[in-house]
Amino acid sequence: MLSTHRSYHYRHKKRESRDKSAAPKASLEELGREIFFCGDPHGAFDHILQAAREHRPKAMVILGDLQPPAPLHEVLADILPYVDVWWIPGNHDTDNDVFYDRLWRSELAGHNLHGRVATVNGVRIAGLGGVFRGQIWMPPQAPNYMSAGAFIRRIGRGNMWRGGLPRRHRTSIFPSTYDNLCEHRADVLVTHEAPGCHRKGFLAIDQLAKKLQVKFLFHGHQHEDRHYPTYYGFTPRGVGYRGIVNLFGEDVVAAQIDPREMMEATDMASSLENYDRLTFKRLG
Ligand SMILES: [Zn+2]
Repeated sequence: MLSTHRSYHYRHKKRESRDKSAAPKASLEELGREIFFCGDPHGAFDHILQAAREHRPKAMVILGDLQPPAPLHEVLADILPYVDVWWIPGNHDTDNDVFYDRLWRSELAGHNLHGRVATVNGVRIAGLGGVFRGQIWMPPQAPNYMSAGAFIRRIGRGNMWRGGLPRRHRTSIFPSTYDNLCEHRADVLVTHEAPGCHRKGFLAIDQLAKKLQVKFLFHGHQHEDRHYPTYYGFTPRGVGYRGIVNLFGEDVVAAQIDPREMMEATDMASSLENYDRLTFKRLG
């Protein structure tokens, strides 16, 4: 009896160790350098294609405001055979029907991480796309509507878009989506909105990261390349306009200057120039 018991155990153990050697588990260090996080592309994808060709990452996650110039799977066709591309929507991705369809009706529609957790190259990544909008929910204030269903019931059939939620609110964060996501566990959280450590960020994002027990948080939207200190057990990273970083927050492609900021700077410079000219005139 004893020997049978032993041999059973022996066999069982042996099979287990064989399984392990067949699929060795890569460390987070190894996996992390193979996953890239891309800041708001706003219609430009050449740097993403180039980084994919040059560095051959296993996966790329785009942090919203894609506004692709063609259906997303066509834009990324060259790299899709070898890169697993995921995305979350940003507020601008519902600006018009064209951008909407190029994402939600593309062959990559199923790779939208909003409100869910997916295992990407062995790493569990949770996604919360879109933005907080006062009409629905502006934390820390109490929400006006808990779910898309509740909002639709209120606005009535005449205000629906394509038989459901108005297009704009398809990138609004509803408490029901947020609460549901809180029930999961993940290694990484990607959001469009910034967490509370950014001056325009939200503590609700930090609370979500804490509930998910993530180690890393990546956000777009603010067009700022930002490293933040680790707190609540996770490290947030703001990925800048058209920038690309890896899981450890290291730059793969340096972020560009947001054109809005550039415009503001130019406006300021030209108004200074005008000021100088006026001053000269007066002097002359
Ligand atoms: Zn943006």
